[in-house]
Amino acid sequence: MFGDFRLMTTADLYSSQPNATGKNKSINADSNMDKQEGLFTENSSREIYTKLKNCKTLEELETLCENADVLKTDLKNTNLVFGVGNPQADLMLIGEAPGAEEDKQGEPFVGAAGQLLNEILEAVNFNRGDVYIANILKHRPPNNRNPKPEERKQSLPFLLRQIDLIEPQLILALGKVSAQTLLDNDNTLGSMRGKFHSFREKYELMATYHPAALLRRSKWKRPTWEDMQLLRKRYDELNGTP
Ligand code: URA
Repeated sequence: MFGDFRLMTTADLYSSQPNATGKNKSINADSNMDKQEGLFTENSSREIYTKLKNCKTLEELETLCENADVLKTDLKNTNLVFGVGNPQADLMLIGEAPGAEEDKQGEPFVGAAGQLLNEILEAVNFNRGDVYIANILKHRPPNNRNPKPEERKQSLPFLLRQIDLIEPQLILALGKVSAQTLLDNDNTLGSMRGKFHSFREKYELMATYHPAALLRRSKWKRPTWEDMQLLRKRYDELNGTP
């Protein structure tokens, strides 16, 4: 399916600088959490803030998410889709919400869009296992509808904690819902893609088309390809690992 996308490969893409080894990541998750404190004003959300701040590992955060009703949608009996990949990754991909297959397997991007995502990553020399993949929502919405604003708002603090525990250098927002939620705007994807945005003063964020959108509209493959090339170049400039 992604074959025609790959044909756009320029030979010099891979002549990029080698990754540096031994990059020393400092975990600043707590100071980032302090910056979020002002968002938690009500008593119930103060409690979530404290619990999130107490999560010092992804495992602890996953346990908190397992028990967080606030992350659930109005679809009953869904499974938590927490995230998958390398916890040391310098590139984190953030989609919208789990679909049926993701709900079943408890892993993001394992359905048709996920297959395409794997091909997109491979086309710029990333393995799925090199990156970390999560979604704005951690539970599946009914009928794959778009996440509601309140669902996005309630899920975001959990995702922000997850980002800070992983501490990637680069974030790729997949699709409009992801980009708008993270950048806190209502802009079109066309106006957000193709450049790096400063995200919470700490990360660089690129937005591009969602793989599911590419399955519907192949004309978006070229801009996606351009975005992925920019992303790969920046990752190499930053000596991203692994
Ligand atoms: N679409 C998404 O945004 N996320 C998934 O995990 C699967 C499909």
